[in-house]
Amino acid sequence: MNRFTPGRIFKSRGRQYQILGTKDHWTRDGRYVEMIRYQSTCAETCCGRTFRALTTKSRIRKGQLNKRCELHHAPGIPIPVKKARKKRPKAHVKKPTAAARLAARRERALERAILAMQRVQRPSYLD
Ligand SMILES: [Zn+2]
Repeated sequence: MNRFTPGRIFKSRGRQYQILGTKDHWTRDGRYVEMIRYQSTCAETCCGRTFRALTTKSRIRKGQLNKRCELHHAPGIPIPVKKARKKRPKAHVKKPTAAARLAARRERALERAILAMQRVQRPSYLD
């Protein structure tokens, strides 16, 4: 039993593959190559379909296998890694101190006093 024995399950670049069998293949220049049939599940998160593909032994050794089905085939594009969501720090709400509340109240009182003064000083013809 070698690594290309049909039924053999192996991992490549974090994904699981299964060898289905071999396929005889002759290159255009007449060389014989034994191709490997394999299957895996599509890496696309919304898909997950089982797909089958054909490759060479050297591509398996190099880990150059399809990660996606025919539909989502996108060689060279890495699978999006789920990033841990950064928790956004809550806006720190400071409870006003008694002194701050008093100061605010004083300020409002002052504003009201100024407004009242301005109203008094307001010439009557503007009314
Ligand atoms: Zn897919």
